[in-house]
Amino acid sequence: MAYRYDRAAESMPRGKLAALQLTRLRATVRNAYANVPMHRRRMRELGLEPGDIRSLEDLARLPFTQKTDLRDHYPFGLFARPRKDLARLHASSGTTGKPTVVGYTARDLATWSGLMARSMACAGVRPGDVVHNAYGYGLFTGGLGAHYGAERLGATVVPMSGGATERQIVLIQDFGARVLCATPSYALAIAEVAEREGVDLKRSKLRIGLFGAEPWSEAMREEIQKRLGLRAVDIYGLSEIMGPGVACECLEAQAGLHGWEDHFIFEVIDPDSGRPVPAGGVGELVITTLTKEALPMLRYRTRDITRLSTGRCECGRSHLRIRRITGRNDDMLIIRGVNVYPSQIEAVLVGLPQIAPHYQLVLERKGSLDHVTVEVEAEQGVAPDPAACARLAKEARHHIKSMIGITTDIVVKQPGEIPRSQGKAVRVRDLRPRPA
Ligand SMILES: [Zn+2]
Repeated sequence: MAYRYDRAAESMPRGKLAALQLTRLRATVRNAYANVPMHRRRMRELGLEPGDIRSLEDLARLPFTQKTDLRDHYPFGLFARPRKDLARLHASSGTTGKPTVVGYTARDLATWSGLMARSMACAGVRPGDVVHNAYGYGLFTGGLGAHYGAERLGATVVPMSGGATERQIVLIQDFGARVLCATPSYALAIAEVAEREGVDLKRSKLRIGLFGAEPWSEAMREEIQKRLGLRAVDIYGLSEIMGPGVACECLEAQAGLHGWEDHFIFEVIDPDSGRPVPAGGVGELVITTLTKEALPMLRYRTRDITRLSTGRCECGRSHLRIRRITGRNDDMLIIRGVNVYPSQIEAVLVGLPQIAPHYQLVLERKGSLDHVTVEVEAEQGVAPDPAACARLAKEARHHIKSMIGITTDIVVKQPGEIPRSQGKAVRVRDLRPRPA
């Protein structure tokens, strides 16, 4: 049956939602304690038993889980179900060492598809829509997550995966896609190739873009909306928690991601002290799963920096909103004492005339100080003129300095010189010597 707005779940009064969370939290803690030795050992070290979790406030007594815990228990050590009971495995490639492996029971997969369908419906996707899925298929959760969610919703899925951009453009038009699922950087690459080929995708049936899997700015949203003629909606998830569909913006407000609180508890902590920040404050997002069987997660530190708001949304949903993710703690650059996320530099660049919305940051060590070079691309027709490039560089440097407070060098490149992503964009090239 096609998924429709589940009013009972999505507009549940917050008091009722909290009661449901507590029941499910207690079950999750019992599951983790009984079946995962690491959780049991850590709780015992703190003198905690599952019965000690009597209120939602008691959540803060539980230990955190980190990405390194998954690596340290590679491959199946954090699973609360025997391997033979798992219906699927996914993994994310680590840049160093072992990948992070996650597992799902058949029921976990059904929960995931249901939440992804809910997210897509929240973003304005309707049963019967053609969904062009350009997320990568495979071990990465993006492709299959969107795929089964769209099927569950009752949409027609085109399982494209990333790459072969010219072919994507042909099929978007020929199959009449109303919805595009991709990373925001790849959506922009599709727009660019289409423009180069003289195809106006604004005249296609595309109306909604479901973009996620990397931090992106409000300025990038406007740019993509303008160039593809669709409404760009932010979607959030991570494989350690489930995959895409943990949270999604609503089409009505496009202002923060509704986090599905009947399946997850969201907290924001100070990343240094680990203590909760006051309501509405900025910090690291921490998520506890409430319905996962195979891989229950207690207070998982996402490294994503954001803030939460519980204010009423115009769409009528009662679930809190995760404000636009500024960046990952791991991506944060400290440039001469100033904390900077690549998405902040993006927000400045995308607003500048004659600069194409593609960029890379190059980090180097000069003496004892970190130095940033921002490589940007001039729009077609500007770049061959050295005087025009110098003027663009000066302007970009000035805006970054005044908006963010850091001094950068700007290199203006020719159109097409910045590498285009077919999945997650590489925004930073770090050439600094690695600490020994
Ligand atoms: Zn809303």
